Amino acid sequence: MGVPPALRPLLVNAVELRRQPGASRQVATAIDPEELGCESPVPGVRLSGQVGIDLTATSGADDIGVTGSITLTWIGPCRRCLSEVERTVDVEIAERFVSPGHPAVDERADGTTVIEGDQIDLAPIIRDVAVLELPAAPLCREECRGWCPQCGAELSTDSCGCETERRDPRWAALDGVVLDDSD
Ligand SMILES: [Zn+2]
Ligand SMILES: [Zn+2]
Repeated sequence: MGVPPALRPLLVNAVELRRQPGASRQVATAIDPEELGCESPVPGVRLSGQVGIDLTATSGADDIGVTGSITLTWIGPCRRCLSEVERTVDVEIAERFVSPGHPAVDERADGTTVIEGDQIDLAPIIRDVAVLELPAAPLCREECRGWCPQCGAELSTDSCGCETERRDPRWAALDGVVLDDSD
């Protein structure tokens, strides 16, 4: 099975690493989400820019450990006010690659992948981690109040004065309080 050229930097030669326990190889690159096959399960939420990858594969006594992090940016509509939210996050990765027949395979341990052939392919792990990081319901900020159902004013920034506006008593307690939005 051929690996697309864009994903070749994510292949690590397992045979070579295993000859030298303790040896490590760094994989530092950036890949387009489309190349990785990252499909968002959430309508309107998508990955933006490239996925930054900084992982190190280290040869252990009976496995190869992969640790490090990926950096990704997602964009999606705030669930309350529908404004576009953009966030960049670092996600830690710790995965163990073992040979077929290794005891960890029978245990179906989390974070364990069986090495197929001579190469370790980091792409599926990065893809899964990136997709899991996409929020099901983005929020621009905790205190976002969305829109007035009567006039459509954005309640976080405007006070529209609609009489029929139903106030949450928790917000009434904040009347007159100056909110510190600097973050
Ligand atoms: Zn919002
Ligand atoms: Zn209003």
